[in-house]
Amino acid sequence: MTESSSEVDVVIVGAGFAGMYELVRMRRAGFSAIVLETADDVGGTWYWNRYPGARCDILSVDYSYSWDPDLQQEWTWSERYAAQPEILRYAQFVADKHDLRRDVRFNTRVTSAEWNDDTHRWVIHTDTGDDLTCRHYIMATGCLSMPKVPDIEGTDRFGGEVYFTSTWPHDGVDFTGKRVAVIGTGSSAVQSIPLIAAEADQLTVFQRTPNFSIPARNGPISDERLAPFLADPDAYRDEARRSAAGVPRETPLEGALMVSDEERTARYEAMWEAGELLGITGTFNDTLANAESNDTLRDFIHGKIRSIVKDPEVAEALCPTNHYVGTKRACLDTNYYETYNLPHVRLVDLRKDPISTITETGVDTESESFEFDAIVFATGFDAMTGAIVGVDITGRDGLTLKEKWAEGPVTYLGLMTAGFPNLFMITGPGSPSVLSNMMVSIEQHVDWIADALVHLRENDLDTIEPTELAETRWVQHSNEFADLTLMPTANSWYMGVNVPGKPQVFLPYPGGVGRYRVTCDEVVERDYLGFALDGPSGRIVNDGIIRELAPDVQVMLETMAEMGLPPIETMGVDGAREFMTASGAMMPPGPDVGEIVDGTLPGADGTPLEYRLFRPPTDGPHPIAVYFHGGGWVLGSATSDDPLCRYLCVHSNSIIVSVNYRHAPEARFPAAADDGLAAATWIADHGEELGGIPGQVAVAGWSAGANVAAVTAQQAKLAGGPAISGQVLLCPVTDGTTERPSHTENADGYGLTMAVMNWFWDHYCDRDDRADPKASPLLGDLTGLPPALVITCQFDPLRDEGDAYAAALADAGVSVQHLQCPGQTHTAVPAVGAMITSEYARAAMADALRSYLRTAANA
Ligand code: FAD
Ligand code: NAP
Repeated sequence: MTESSSEVDVVIVGAGFAGMYELVRMRRAGFSAIVLETADDVGGTWYWNRYPGARCDILSVDYSYSWDPDLQQEWTWSERYAAQPEILRYAQFVADKHDLRRDVRFNTRVTSAEWNDDTHRWVIHTDTGDDLTCRHYIMATGCLSMPKVPDIEGTDRFGGEVYFTSTWPHDGVDFTGKRVAVIGTGSSAVQSIPLIAAEADQLTVFQRTPNFSIPARNGPISDERLAPFLADPDAYRDEARRSAAGVPRETPLEGALMVSDEERTARYEAMWEAGELLGITGTFNDTLANAESNDTLRDFIHGKIRSIVKDPEVAEALCPTNHYVGTKRACLDTNYYETYNLPHVRLVDLRKDPISTITETGVDTESESFEFDAIVFATGFDAMTGAIVGVDITGRDGLTLKEKWAEGPVTYLGLMTAGFPNLFMITGPGSPSVLSNMMVSIEQHVDWIADALVHLRENDLDTIEPTELAETRWVQHSNEFADLTLMPTANSWYMGVNVPGKPQVFLPYPGGVGRYRVTCDEVVERDYLGFALDGPSGRIVNDGIIRELAPDVQVMLETMAEMGLPPIETMGVDGAREFMTASGAMMPPGPDVGEIVDGTLPGADGTPLEYRLFRPPTDGPHPIAVYFHGGGWVLGSATSDDPLCRYLCVHSNSIIVSVNYRHAPEARFPAAADDGLAAATWIADHGEELGGIPGQVAVAGWSAGANVAAVTAQQAKLAGGPAISGQVLLCPVTDGTTERPSHTENADGYGLTMAVMNWFWDHYCDRDDRADPKASPLLGDLTGLPPALVITCQFDPLRDEGDAYAAALADAGVSVQHLQCPGQTHTAVPAVGAMITSEYARAAMADALRSYLRTAANA
């Protein structure tokens, strides 16, 4: 490509690792491409950040390209964590080897870009005055490439030397004999402070927020650590691509609170010795989700800081207390905490004594004046969006990206944004990006984009653009994932909090690199789901949502799929019962209640039925709800839904009596239905004895248990008692005909399958009996029934029969609350403490019980 060319297929902005590889892929695919780069050479991050101590915090063996297999043999890293000059040499080596520079225009900043909807081209404007026209415009502009504008009063006033870690002088800086200030204590500061301290006469560090850091233990990489890579580089890279954060690591099976104190400390010690960033929060599986678990790690690191830093006051100031470990990017250091033991190094805690202004000669805090020869700003970046909106980008119909993202970035997969056809972002907001080994994420995005462009060309299409639905729901999905973690609780650059006025939203996608890759691949496999493609061959709008499951439900289903369990219906009745008991034992137990009483009551035929009574911790007497467990009339017991019963007890402040009923195939229809009525009658009659309010009960149940509850309400009405004050039906079985759309759509893959549902039905009830309202309550007379809450879940085979029951109740004049739970499955809501996104449904159950029972009590 020559300087004078003004029309190319693809313009790539940025010549860091992303732009370099994108250029390679464009060339290989036969597109004309040009890279525009502000700097005068390749390297991006590693071109600009030349401060002392700058090095990677992901092992170099992992933080390197995988797309050139020969390169892996040709280049050997000298250390575990290569320093900036070596990483820059690596980028330059790649540029030389692949002759990349001939297609890069250096010293060229892109200032603005406009989409022309008539020509289906982008027009790119630069600060050199050269404009370019292109079909596709790829922002490889980096997530940490736009230095944060200093936001300290008086910054321009200082008369001494001023440095930014993010744009360090190429000739280096000699601090010998100087009084130096460093402002900031993020990764850049943590790396540079020990080396600046080694030269300077005096060093004063101004700290607003202390960070968590562990020793990098840099040096040559051990043979042991390198062995898996050398043994099979391809397999190693593949594992990285499928991993959570782009580095092969075993996923811990335990949470921090599941092991003894000794074991936990031993594992943290091993992490401290290993010196790997992902090990910090990767020692246990719940560090980033469970505050109590995270506290154990915080306490461990605090202990280390206190053991290293001699002055107790300084040590306390260095101990982070306002965020959970890992919710701000943690650091790897070499002698960081030790540096504060040096006599010429001072820490100023800005939380106690904030900076009031920078002066001509130094820094004034509220209580002290400092004089310096040099100030180093290690104050970070306008991360993830800064460089993208730093270019004035105008899409279709005059919409600017700045306007569109005014409330925070909106993207589909972090790759594209609606209204801006053919504009791609590499590692953009909404992708795993900065939460990962960036090299892996960069390569995945570059490959996806290159494949998309080839797809367009092969199909005679000009443009690709996400639909609004697809991107809105992707943002929602990403936020829901983030909300399952502690990440949004911190004032971090991940949240945009570091830049005054920036919208505060969690920027990267926290679902992990492997899961994200699967999602992007699935989008393509499903014919670019969520995209509109347009061109001479026609317009294809494949609108849709790629991830509808709630994220915790998705993770649970993936985990179950990985376990490769045999289908329940193939286990035999005894095997299935054992399996259900064993899997129930692995679930969190649910909240503590005031008292648990186990007993028996007579069933319809006199058979003793076991029950478990859960009494609230508050003073009684309490109203009573009778609960019927799930399990397809075949499995389960009075204790199998313990967590949900405990939850309902505590949150509705009611006694919950979970009653077993006779199971099929030993006792077939109508045994369970008859036992339901017998149990409700007995409990209503014995309310006072049970410590409750006699005469009234509500009924509740899940799945087949909700079927029993619904039938009980109908039978009680027909029998003239007991008085049922309300019914709470979670994913109820209501109809023996299994021909509704959800029976097919959700037949497999969402926990409860139709295969097992049919197995349950066949064990419970002859086909001829299924039209009996005691089997199919939907077919009963619904008039005059007590108020109901019916909860149905989007990805449940039983969804439509539950929906039908709610509608039929309403038609019959019953007061019905119908809660449809998007993204949820049949088994999600009862999983108290494990499935967080369904909490609102459990709360609705408890609220309904509370209102039915209190209304009844006051009647
Ligand atoms: P960059 O390397 O940032 O390159 C973007 C390029 O785009 C820059 O050269 C910039 O000049 C150019 N550009 C931007 N806007 C324009 C414009 N308008 N016109 C023209 N050119 C423009 N990640 C890890 O995974 N592991 C690490 O150990 C690690 N260490 C890091 C250390 C530091 C000090 C920093 C700042 C970041 C680190 N990162 C690390 C993140 C790092 O940014 C990525 O790993 C990776 O280098 C990003 O590559 P990139 O090509 O996407 O972007
Ligand atoms: P950073 O993590 O954002 O740290 C900036 C620091 O400056 C913070 O301590 C911040 O305090 C402080 N600060 C900002 N404005 C301030 C103000 N007005 N007054 C006082 N203090 C102020 O930036 P960074 O250290 O450059 O690192 C950014 C990211 O780049 C890292 O998180 C990492 O992803 C990457 N990086 C990696 C490495 C590596 O080890 N490989 C090295 C450098 C950078 P608050 O926290 O209170 O805002």
